[in-house]
Amino acid sequence: MPPSAESSRPATGFPADDARCPCGSGDVFGACCAPFLRGAAAPTAVQLMRSRYTAYAVGDAAYLVETWHPTTRPATIELDPALEWRRLAILGTDRGGPFDDRGTVEFDAAWREGEARGRLHEVSRFVRDEGRWRYVDGDVG
Ligand SMILES: [Zn+2]
Repeated sequence: MPPSAESSRPATGFPADDARCPCGSGDVFGACCAPFLRGAAAPTAVQLMRSRYTAYAVGDAAYLVETWHPTTRPATIELDPALEWRRLAILGTDRGGPFDDRGTVEFDAAWREGEARGRLHEVSRFVRDEGRWRYVDGDVG
């Protein structure tokens, strides 16, 4: 299969700050998810959701552990380097704002692994403890 512009991007590895953010916000990485992956607190649940999607897309398992609520966090997170996250669409949010301590985000994420393609639709729950939004769990389907 000839390489395309899309498949030339490695499945793991951080984009340049002036490259398009993997979360699909339309902003550049350095002004979108990068500050959160580098330790800044995401002000809203949807920003945390976007940054976690970006972490999946770039293979940043440590960030996924860190932003997963301790009560539901898996012991380890193994990311499959062959699985490529292609696109994120935020379908809706409920609360999760700067003055909330919980919220939900509904999203649809498209993935590709070799010839296989699929989508993940989830309503994710987030809580904010000590100023930090964290992913709790979600309903997939
Ligand atoms: Zn982003």
